[in-house]
Amino acid sequence: MPPSPSIKGWCPGAWRPMATGDGLLVRVRPPLGQLSREQVVALCDGAETFGSGLIELTSRANLQLRGVSDASWPQLMAFLVEHQLVSDDPEVERQPQLMLAPAWKKGDDTPTIARLLQARGSELASMPGKVGIAIDAGKAPVLSDSAADFRIERSREGGLLVRADGYAQGTTVSDTDAAVEQLIRLTHWFVDSGGWASGRMRRHKAPLPEWAQADTAPAPPGEKLALGKHHEGIVVGLPFGRVAAETLREAVSQTSARVVQATPWRRLLLQDCDTLPADDGLIRHNSDPRLAMDACPGTPYCEQASVATQPLAEKLSGWVETSVHISGCAKGCARRTPADVCLVGQAGRFNVVVNGGADSTPVKTGLSEGEVVNFMRKLSENS
Ligand code: SF4
Repeated sequence: MPPSPSIKGWCPGAWRPMATGDGLLVRVRPPLGQLSREQVVALCDGAETFGSGLIELTSRANLQLRGVSDASWPQLMAFLVEHQLVSDDPEVERQPQLMLAPAWKKGDDTPTIARLLQARGSELASMPGKVGIAIDAGKAPVLSDSAADFRIERSREGGLLVRADGYAQGTTVSDTDAAVEQLIRLTHWFVDSGGWASGRMRRHKAPLPEWAQADTAPAPPGEKLALGKHHEGIVVGLPFGRVAAETLREAVSQTSARVVQATPWRRLLLQDCDTLPADDGLIRHNSDPRLAMDACPGTPYCEQASVATQPLAEKLSGWVETSVHISGCAKGCARRTPADVCLVGQAGRFNVVVNGGADSTPVKTGLSEGEVVNFMRKLSENS
């Protein structure tokens, strides 16, 4: 079996950056899931001035800067606070992450609930660092596959419900205020019933309280944002979830984009944008083969990785029609669900898992990159 990766019980932030293979990783939570054009440009400037210039979009719709040094971090923080990309109060970052269903509009329930919850953020129970909240109150839930411990969603009947992760159904509430009240109450129940020991709601075995019965089904899941034209602008993809600051800056400063919404699907919605610069390195088409590949940062970016993942992902893109996950170690950060083929780094070589995740039992072990390429070539010839 591959050695277990070290699991940190907290998520990095901006005030609590994480040391990685290429320096500090500084994670920015876009307020309400979106940034103004000016904030995007500032983020890009900050990434280039104080970091390596690489920006990543995470599966929780956060944006993170890489390659920040201990010496430049204080200056970066002052810069991020100045541009309202980070609160000047480190305690705000300790509150659970709110993930909003993308493409929300002013007046929708999703931003209304998010603002109500932000205003009452100090009333939430103090919970383990990885606990998150999804506010998914559009016509149909779109964040069901994204990591969150508590969800506010639309029911089949069109009302609102609050659902604990791990349960297929939730509890109906009368309106947005009641949804926030119920959610706050649920966080206190979670902690009081041993949530710190469980770590995440999905693993929490205590029965739900009688006032939070799981008896109402959410509406059937809605479609995720497709790439290309959208009624709010243009949706673009970031290859393997990362982009050079220069590329992102051009995508907003040379277009009419006024706001950028982050999504948990490696896609950005450029609102009020109708055209993009030619050949900008962003993914624009739903048929792009890179969309079938998931690859974590790998070496030299993550200290737990022993293999370079993204160059191999670029090399293999388009070869096979199956889903491929390339993971620097058995932690499998880039993909939560099984892939048809999962290539997992171990001691500088690759293990091959078929129909599984990074921690599944491999069918082959210790392959060099060249041997992996041959394996995938044969797979594509036989498929
Ligand atoms: S899966 Fe990748 S990013 Fe996650 S810890 Fe392992 S090497 Fe690092």
